Amino acid sequence: MTNLSLNHHSVDPQISGQLYINGRWSLPVDPATLPVVNPATEEVIAEVARGSSEDVDRAVAAARAAFPGWSATPVDSRALILGKIHELILERQEALAQALSLEMGAAISFARVMQVPLAAEHVRVACDLLSTYRFRRVENGTAVDREPIGVCGLITPWNWPLYQITAKVAPAIAAGCTVVLKPSELSPLSALLFAQLVHDAGLPPGVFNLVNGSGAEVGAAMAAHPDIDMISITGSNRAGALVAQAAAPTVKRVTQELGGKSPNVLLPDADFAKAVPPGVMSAFRNVGQSCSAPTRMIVPRNRLAEVEALAAATANAIIVGDPLLEGTVLGPIANEAQFHRVQTMIEVGLDEGAKLLCGGPGRVQGFEKGFYTRPTIFSNVDSSMRIAQEEIFGPVLCIIAYDTVDEAVAIANDTVYGLGAHVQSQDLELARSVASRIRSGQVLLNYPAWNPMAPFGGYKRSGNGREYGVHGFEEYLEIKAIVGFG
Ligand code: NAD
Repeated sequence: MTNLSLNHHSVDPQISGQLYINGRWSLPVDPATLPVVNPATEEVIAEVARGSSEDVDRAVAAARAAFPGWSATPVDSRALILGKIHELILERQEALAQALSLEMGAAISFARVMQVPLAAEHVRVACDLLSTYRFRRVENGTAVDREPIGVCGLITPWNWPLYQITAKVAPAIAAGCTVVLKPSELSPLSALLFAQLVHDAGLPPGVFNLVNGSGAEVGAAMAAHPDIDMISITGSNRAGALVAQAAAPTVKRVTQELGGKSPNVLLPDADFAKAVPPGVMSAFRNVGQSCSAPTRMIVPRNRLAEVEALAAATANAIIVGDPLLEGTVLGPIANEAQFHRVQTMIEVGLDEGAKLLCGGPGRVQGFEKGFYTRPTIFSNVDSSMRIAQEEIFGPVLCIIAYDTVDEAVAIANDTVYGLGAHVQSQDLELARSVASRIRSGQVLLNYPAWNPMAPFGGYKRSGNGREYGVHGFEEYLEIKAIVGFG
């Protein structure tokens, strides 16, 4: 097999046009391709296979055939392979970081320090879980077994490409499932490297399969497939709903990680000099393209001027530029469609009468090409405005003022989403009580370190199901009661 080679300009076309099915690279049934565009240069850097429903059939058949063997493989053998996958991600982290930077514009330092290492963590966690997880629990004569659900279809987005892949693939194969992965057609290069690495780690043929292609073709075929037992999708609400509809006739399990519009509540006693700058940086991390980005900063009205000054100073100091330069903090927006969506929403904010503190429409000065977007902050935002309600998925932060803590909580909950949330306070008791009143799957108090064991997922329209740690692992398990077990 040819190794996938990658330099600053291209991916080996021999591999990038192929699918990984049943332990080998192969051409799609119909040899069509999709272009991959580098958002920093707007140039086509690769052509990837455009799979079809026939390719999905081939991949599902391979996964189905591999399921009896893999699900019966002892957990320590599964853990050994996961450990090897973890090792190979760390060994190949530079190539993975370069791929991420090319395919979606991640600043190289961010890809090296965040995107790749955090992706590796999901694999480590799944591997470690296997040594402690009790697949059988016997109580009162009944054994309750946790068994792998079967063949899983995994559909991932372009914003954290490798991280979303490992957050699904690692717990699924740890649980004993076999998988068909469809990464975003907009960022498929890191997924090709991942497939090669899984192969090199010695995962048996058919346990992991990769089918590149569009959502409308490959994703929809997976969702409807009668031989897939579960679909896990991370993406837009539009795609999440379409997947659930297509999956309904076959009654497969569907887990969805979808959009967000997460609040960051600064309580009156917070240390604002410490609370505002990280709030801005969290909102803009990954160029604001994170589903749980805290894009609504909810602040006491009598401290608004102070918050505005701190927020603008933080945003104005951010270096936006060529993602391959070490000092760059934010690269471009990941793709053209998203760039235009973000530009439109910045215009909407101006039309709605929000106060522009910094940034604004148009490219970052000095760039005529590339989807470079100015970090933008609006103040005097009313919670009913579109910029406060709709997910923008770009570097756009809304500052919303409140008069009482009750009103702050009401604003935090004034959204169809419920994915992430932040609360800042020097009084931990107060922060905890506000956290318990926010309707979202995760609440972070005073910017804690990332915890790969903390369950992640949405209330309301942010989705169904949880990822990460033991809760994420259990999504891939069925429960069987053996009554009269003794
Ligand atoms: P998208 O919905 O366009 O695509 C996500 C994935 O779904 C892609 O692989 C795509 O090909 C596939 N897809 C699209 N239409 C499909 C269909 N009809 N059937 C099956 N699959 C289909 O989303 P995107 O633009 O890639 O990602 C951005 C969105 O994802 C944002 O809304 C963001 O909030 C959300 N997101 C959520 C999380 C989370 O964990 N909750 C994480 C990242 C991104």
